Amino acid sequence: EEFRETLEVLPLSLSDTVEAHRICVCVRKRPLNSKEVTKNDIDVVSIPGNGTLLLHEPKQKVDLTKYLDNQVFHYDYSFDESSTNDLVYRFTAKPLVQTIFDGGMATCFAYGQTGSGKTHTMGGDFSGKSQNSAKGIYAMAAQDVFALLNQRRYSSLDLCPYVTFFEIYNSKVFDLLNKKAKLRVLEDEKQQVQVVGLQEMYVSCAEDVIKMIEMGSACRTSGQTSANANSSRSHAVLQVILRRRNQVHGKFSLVDLAGNERGIDVRSSDRQTLVETAEINRSLLALKECIRSLGMDSHHIPFRMSKLTQVLRDSFIGDNSRTCMIAMVSPGMSSCDSTVNTLRYADRVKELNGTLKMNDADLPKKIDEMEVEDSSSSEEDSIV
Ligand code: ADP
Ligand code: MG
Repeated sequence: EEFRETLEVLPLSLSDTVEAHRICVCVRKRPLNSKEVTKNDIDVVSIPGNGTLLLHEPKQKVDLTKYLDNQVFHYDYSFDESSTNDLVYRFTAKPLVQTIFDGGMATCFAYGQTGSGKTHTMGGDFSGKSQNSAKGIYAMAAQDVFALLNQRRYSSLDLCPYVTFFEIYNSKVFDLLNKKAKLRVLEDEKQQVQVVGLQEMYVSCAEDVIKMIEMGSACRTSGQTSANANSSRSHAVLQVILRRRNQVHGKFSLVDLAGNERGIDVRSSDRQTLVETAEINRSLLALKECIRSLGMDSHHIPFRMSKLTQVLRDSFIGDNSRTCMIAMVSPGMSSCDSTVNTLRYADRVKELNGTLKMNDADLPKKIDEMEVEDSSSSEEDSIV
């Protein structure tokens, strides 16, 4: 029944499902905020559904009604401004929870300019300022991990869950669960990457994870190191790691990326800002290339191009790795340049991805399969 309810509000393309992709690319539009409304900014993004997004980019800024140039973009899913975090989660990160139980690596990225909704989507928003006050993907994923851990079929595996939470700023790694301690990244002769001294906290329930998230998020924005006052210039990585006999069994990395905004920095004379921007651009370019090589089953993964991709190296290899990128867009005309940038980037991440098409008839079954059952109703065969 829950599935049917979901169908009615489905913002997605029925011919493909997430299940069929190793790489899933979605777009989420946030509502115009009060500041934009006050400034008479207009909404230039529309989401007709089916994974489609239309951008009404003004050709001339003189008479907006007459010179609208429509650009069409297609993704796996497109979420409009009325979608909740819960709905977005259900079609993006939720299907990846199973991956880490199957011994794979899962990653979910929030990409977009500052203010487009990355932190709202990943970390949630409890400030009460937004009317969509809601839990984020971090917390919902943590709950589903524990729901599966408590199922009988997994309890015999003796999986132990751990959490790490760190930030990458200007190519340096800072531990958000340890007072932003600066950490070194080492690569051994087998190309195994290690973040030396990173706190890996054992967690016994979803509430433990949520506590870590709150602690780390507070640490992130508090600017304890003089090096990084503005969290929008850094990537934040939350990892849920399942260990079995001390070996990594599966890892879920949830990444709130640095803002990809355009334009501001070229004019900036501030050296610090220029260095930051160059580094962000480099890491986002590297990320795109690494995800693409995952889609192409490439043997050459350019993960050394940036600290971000180096640290996430595991996620880009192996047959059982899956990635989801959520591209966030602001609706306003004033954000048009960054929005176009975001939409094109998301397009290219997806290009050349070996996508399996499925019949519509397969869909209900597939979506049922990707549901993570509540532990209270768990049966041996309740998830496939
Ligand atoms: P980012 O992390 O990309 O810089 P934020 O997540 O901080 O952006 O979002 C900027 C502001 O917009 C926040 O006040 C947030 O609450 C609000 N916001 C973002 N997305 C949504 C949404 N889908 N619905 C309502 N408010 C949102
Ligand atoms: Mg943010």
